[in-house]
Amino acid sequence: MENAVTVDENFSFCFCCNSEECSLACCHGHAIALNPYEVLRIKDYLKLSCEELEEGYLLSLYDESGLPLLMLDRDPCPFLKHRRCSIYPARPLACRLFPLGKVCNGEAKTVFMKDCDCAGIGKGRRLTLREYIAEQRAGEYIEMWERWVSFVDTAAKAKLSHKPMKQVFLKILLYNFDFQPKKVAKPHASPEEQFLARLTAAEELISGIGSEAE
Ligand code: SF4
Ligand code: SF4
Repeated sequence: MENAVTVDENFSFCFCCNSEECSLACCHGHAIALNPYEVLRIKDYLKLSCEELEEGYLLSLYDESGLPLLMLDRDPCPFLKHRRCSIYPARPLACRLFPLGKVCNGEAKTVFMKDCDCAGIGKGRRLTLREYIAEQRAGEYIEMWERWVSFVDTAAKAKLSHKPMKQVFLKILLYNFDFQPKKVAKPHASPEEQFLARLTAAEELISGIGSEAE
């Protein structure tokens, strides 16, 4: 990540977002991968079917290991309306944490985009990392991200690009929350429970334990 420095839990910074007087750097840039938890939160917020969300707003692709991904294009972001985020309560983790971010290159790290074109950096009151995460209601998103990173690591070792049927079933299991396989169906489950149940089922599918698209 350009201009990003790794920070630890003792990090603090001054920040005050002012979207009226800035370039909206946080809402532009390269596309970001949404994990299924983030997709579910946006789907629930907008009350769309998974198909409507994917076809109307997201990009679908496979990464180099063959894992199906849904991406949010940010050039421009389809949810940016009149300089405001139209899904603010359901915005993804990258948007919640900006100008901080989470990256994983073998090891999960928190980074700070110190030289980005954000008018809010250096303004306002000083916040610790913990205070900022709490203020942005990012705690659960980080927990789900950490679980997702572990899943992606497992999936990368499974060479899914050689297993097209598993790729199809995985995409349904991971992202199609309108389809409730018996194994993961839980009436009234929280978004976190739904996501975690699907990841477990997806890991079983990858390892060959689960029965495909049961
Ligand atoms: S976070 Fe920075 S770039 Fe984004 S709207 Fe606020 S001031 Fe602008
Ligand atoms: S989801 Fe919202 S906060 Fe995130 S890039 Fe799009 S408009 Fe900006």
